[in-house]
Formats: sequence, structure tokens, C-alpha cells
Amino acid sequence: MPETIKTWQLAQACLKDKLGTTVFDTWIAPLKAKSVAQNSLTLEAPDTFFKDWVEKHYRPAIEESLGSCGAKKKITLTLEIGSPEKITPEKISISASPAKTHESFGYLKLNPRYTFENFVVGPSNRHAHAYCLATAESPAKAYNPLFIYGSTGLGKTHLIQSVCHHIKNKVGGNLKICYQPSEKFTNELIDAIQHHSTAAFRQKYRNLDVLVLDDIHFIAGKNSSQEEFFHTFNTLYDAHKQIILSSDRPPKEIADLQERLVSRFGWGLAVDVQPPDLETRVAILKKKIEREPVSVPDDVIFFIAGLILTNIRDLEGALVRVMAYSLMEEKPITLDLAKEALKDLLKETKKFITVDFIQRCVAEEFGISLHDLKARRRNKNIVLPRQIAMYLSREMTDLSLPEIGNYFGGKDHTTVLYSYTKIKGELIKNGTLKERMEGIRQIIKQ
Ligand code: ADP
Ligand code: MG
Repeated sequence: MPETIKTWQLAQACLKDKLGTTVFDTWIAPLKAKSVAQNSLTLEAPDTFFKDWVEKHYRPAIEESLGSCGAKKKITLTLEIGSPEKITPEKISISASPAKTHESFGYLKLNPRYTFENFVVGPSNRHAHAYCLATAESPAKAYNPLFIYGSTGLGKTHLIQSVCHHIKNKVGGNLKICYQPSEKFTNELIDAIQHHSTAAFRQKYRNLDVLVLDDIHFIAGKNSSQEEFFHTFNTLYDAHKQIILSSDRPPKEIADLQERLVSRFGWGLAVDVQPPDLETRVAILKKKIEREPVSVPDDVIFFIAGLILTNIRDLEGALVRVMAYSLMEEKPITLDLAKEALKDLLKETKKFITVDFIQRCVAEEFGISLHDLKARRRNKNIVLPRQIAMYLSREMTDLSLPEIGNYFGGKDHTTVLYSYTKIKGELIKNGTLKERMEGIRQIIKQ
């Protein structure tokens, strides 16, 4: 694979982090990379509008990511218009019958990966998943509107696109479905107003069977969008059509949202998604690896799942970084390689963690006093927590062994090393301890 294409793959992971999935999926993923010469990269956009938009809004971000993602020499970037039939699997796909779909109601752009089959269900998203599935099984009969909320990167877009896939492929192939990021809805409206084509805009949105607007909080503070959406909502709702919305917070907490919309959003069902627990994070990583032509050892999976706790996009991003790093370095994926690939992230996390804090968390977990933990007493019920605290200090901070010893009443660095090695060995044999340790780690990180 040419070097520039490798760099582009890395840069995409950075861009996804930087721009967020919606923007990434909309504007970056459809670009097709070609390498014509060394140190030059050509990205093909599907049409002129697309190319100009990316040129205007995302060129600096793309260039910056190329620069920061290991390019040895500066890469010259060219944007071109590609031939439309060159659709790659990476590209957002159109399901069932593309031509007809396109004619009848504008196209349904979905990420082919965002299906129920690819969605890992855990305690954090069980409810949201169940309601989405129920809605997909009987649109406009179960919950209307269905409102999914939660912070960024927790699977809202994935879930609501799964509903679209499910309806399209299993329930009602000829239903008119539209999935749209709210940002696009707003841009389209502005465009329609400028070009005096609001009638067509209304025709499109008010004749749907299923309208899915992602990140609806985006229309907060935008009066013409809210006005237009209010009428769209009423028309669809009165005609018993399904409306599905997602947002980063519950309706009542969206500032600058008209009261009449807030109340309508509450007519159906609002359900949240929460950050995933460790098991779910591990399962999500494993699911993602299933689709990749690489093998990733369990200790690497646990390492990544232990490092990133509250955002699944970041969790996947970290995995992608490890895979890309192994590709660049042409080395197999090991724990050491993963640590190297994610060293910035490790540093970031470590910066905020102090030995003091670790000691307090451990003391609390074991119900002993901070004073005892640091003192010289050798009771069995104190020695273990003390060793654990030393182990965690070594793992979770950048301090040296003598420095850590100082925090424990001036213990020798060999004592710290002994504790560290001892606990490390215990963790391999003792599942209960491992679980407990994971719990403490989580508390410390959060
Ligand atoms: P949000 O819309 O809430 O910001 P996304 O739906 O974009 O989050 O999810 C971010 C990433 O995490 C996506 O790549 C998505 O596929 C993945 N993801 C989120 N939740 C799950 C899950 N439960 N199982 C598998 N992948 C998930
Ligand atoms: Mg989203």
C-alpha cells in the first residue's frame, strides 16, 4: 500500500476524533483516496458541491491531520471530482433500490455498519435498544416520537440508523424513510429559502412515512428551522407517521428550544443511553475486531477498554489507532505496541491522577484509614490494600519507584517494586482481585 494512503488511513482516525462522526460520515468518509505520486494525495468527492464544501470547510483540518499522523514529508492535497459509480464499501450506502429511492424522496444515506446486528447491547443501552427495535418493528404504532438522548459517542446515531435499516430491509421496504442530521435539515432549509424552493422542501419532508432527525438540539436557537420543523412535525404526527429524534440531552434541557417543541418531544417516549460498563466496552471492541482482518490479543482489548471509559467513538478510535500503528510499523499488535500507539492518551490520563487520590480511593474501598495505609503497620488487612495502592500508583502515574515510596511514609523503592510485582502476579491468578482492581481503577479515573 502506498505510504500516502497509509497516512490517509491514520489521518481519518484523527479526523473522526476531531470532527465527530456526523461530520466525518457526511463529508470525509465519502472521499475516495488516490495516490498519484509520492507525497501527494488526491481525494475524490462525489460532486462539485461536495468538493467545494470540503475545500471550504475541511481542507485545513484534513491537512493538519495528515501532518500530525506520521507523514514524514509534507503531503500535497488535491481535491477532485470523482466518477459517481466508484462507490466503495466504505462509502455510505443506499439500501434496497437506490434509483427508485432517489427519485421518490431524496436519498437515504445510511452507514451500512450501523445495524442492530452490529450493536452490542449492555445495561447502559438496553432500554434505548429495546425501544428502537420496537419502533422499527411497528413504525408509528409503538412510540411516537421516539426520542433518544445521551452524551456524544454513546451510539445514538448507530441506534437510529439501525431503525432505518431494519424498516427498509425487514418491515416496510416501500415506506418513505428519511434519515438526516439536523444540521443538514437546517442547511437544506436555508438553501431552499435562498432559492425560493421551500415548497419542494416541504413536499419532501411532509410526505414521509418515517422521519429521523439526528442531533435535533442543533436547531436550538434557529428560529426558521424550529418553525419549519414544528409544522413538519404536526403534519407527520397527525398523519400517524413515525418521527425519531436524537439529542445530546433530554428535551427540557435543550436551551433555546421553543416550548411547543419541547412539549411535543415529550408526547412519545424519551429514553437515554449511558456510558458502557467494562464488559460492554470489551464486547464492543471484540465486535469491531470481528470485521477487521487482524487479530488483537485479549490483553490489548482489556488495556484499551480500561483506558477509555465514557465515549464509544473514542474507544473505537483508540483501537483504530492501534491497528493503524501496527500497519505503519509493520509489526503485530501486542500490548507494548498498543501502549506505544496510545502514549499520548496514556499521558493525558496520567496527568490528572495523583498518588494521594489513589490512596484515598483504595483506603475507602477497603474500609481502612488513610493513615494506616501509609503507615508501617503490617496487619494483613492493611498490607494488601497498601500493595494495591502502590501497584496502581506505578501503573497510573508517571512517578518513579522512589517517588512513590515517599508517598507511603518514605518506603524504599525495592518495597514498591516488590509490591508491584507481587500484585501483578496475583492479578493473573486471582479473578476476584482482578475485578476489584478494575472497579478501583474506574473510580480513580472518573
Ligand atoms: P452518538 O451518535 O451517540 O454520538 P454514535 O452512534 O456515532 O454515537 O456512536 C459512536 C461510535 O460507537 C460508532 O462507530 C458506533 O458504531 C459505535 N457504537 C456505539 N454504541 C455501540 C454499541 N452498543 N455497539 C457497537 N458499536 C457501538
Ligand atoms: Mg450522533
